[in-house]
Amino acid sequence: MAPRRIAIAGAGIGGLTAALALAQAGFEVALVERARELEEAGAGVQLAANATRCLRSLGVYERVAARAVVPRAFEVMDGRRGTRLTGAPMGETAEAAFGGPFIVIHRADLQAALLAAVRETPAITLTLGRTLTGFEATPDGVALHLAGAAEPLRAQALVGADGLRSAVRLALRPDARPSFRHRAAWRATVPASALPDRLAEPVTRLWLGPGAHLVSYPVQAGEAINLVAVTPDEREVHGWNEEGAPGDLLLHYRGWSTEAHALLAAPDRWLRWALFDLDPLPAWGEGPVTLLGDAAHAMPPFLAQGAAQAIEDAVVLADELSRDGDIPAALRRYEALRRPRTARVQRAARGMDRLYHLAGPARIARDLVMRARAGETVLERYRWIYGWRP
Ligand SMILES: Cc1cc2nc3c(=O)[nH]c(=O)nc-3n(C[C@H](O)[C@H](O)[C@H](O)COP(=O)(O)OP(=O)(O)OC[C@H]3O[C@@H](n4cnc5c(N)ncnc54)[C@H](O)[C@@H]3O)c2cc1C
Repeated sequence: MAPRRIAIAGAGIGGLTAALALAQAGFEVALVERARELEEAGAGVQLAANATRCLRSLGVYERVAARAVVPRAFEVMDGRRGTRLTGAPMGETAEAAFGGPFIVIHRADLQAALLAAVRETPAITLTLGRTLTGFEATPDGVALHLAGAAEPLRAQALVGADGLRSAVRLALRPDARPSFRHRAAWRATVPASALPDRLAEPVTRLWLGPGAHLVSYPVQAGEAINLVAVTPDEREVHGWNEEGAPGDLLLHYRGWSTEAHALLAAPDRWLRWALFDLDPLPAWGEGPVTLLGDAAHAMPPFLAQGAAQAIEDAVVLADELSRDGDIPAALRRYEALRRPRTARVQRAARGMDRLYHLAGPARIARDLVMRARAGETVLERYRWIYGWRP
């Protein structure tokens, strides 16, 4: 019998991982991507134990880890005073506690590792520069319409891994529009050598202050430090090509500590990204079509779980599709397994928005609680996220 073919729209972290997982489950995969070249915007991504465990099960972890850093610790800092509110060892301690490493990596390195594995897998055909414009169910699956293609692409199923502005989601659920969070994430990477030693350590730091926060961690095997600054912002422009004026950024960090300012002053260039997310969706798919990753559950980045949840989706999707031959039934089981979990993570990430950006007496109360708590208890609170297994 010829192998069954699954089409995936979108070759982001979710689509690439899903292609690998499905090929390993015995499917032929047609992966179509709108961009002519795959290039992730220059910034980092944190991958917690729940994600690295999945990458390990797919046999790509060692490849990913080659350019990643395992932070020795995480620290939450009072952005204004520059003092430590709480923290905990990471490294082997966190790996032992949660059954997988916590790593930080440049997106381009993660994408290159996944892409190399995709290119080495004969069952996956990756077509770049092809935009999915529509699809329809057929008696034996689905026909995909791709811009510039004479014939539709036929497959037994379509997985919309096409991100926040998903064309697949728009066709299935035109009412489910991304909502603007009135915040921007400003991202930059700087050479580690340009920073004082303490700020270039292999430590993930979260600096909290009224209305804004700042995250720093090493990438590129420790050669660079990745910075993410989150500020209030009313400019609803979608995309990464927006260069942000450092003067605009610094307005939100007046009165912050010398160390925070040393980080904020280091980059030559910041990229600004308006933050959008989705409300949890009541359904992800219909018949032979489903969603995966940001297309299904875009969330604010405050728990650093968007890519991790896309990676989890990929593993569960392949697992359910490999169980029996009834593809629509397998897709509904996948959705039933993933929707409650991703909705909980989406809600928790929105909750962090409030907690991180408190001002006035509420901020003082939060900081007192944080100082009194060991950092390990902060990690333990998220055991339901980091300890997840398929
Ligand atoms: C500031 C910031 C920091 C973050 N930090 C973290 C973190 O530390 N850890 C973490 O786990 N997550 C993090 N995230 C979230 C993470 O980046 C996303 O959740 C993840 O990249 C989503 O991957 P995806 O593959 O679902 O979608 P995308 O990466 O958006 O990929 C979608 C792909 O589909 C393609 N496409 C779109 N439309 C079409 C079409 N019609 N036809 C064909 N192709 C199409 C696009 O070109 C793109 O390549 C962060 C997000 C932000 C904004």
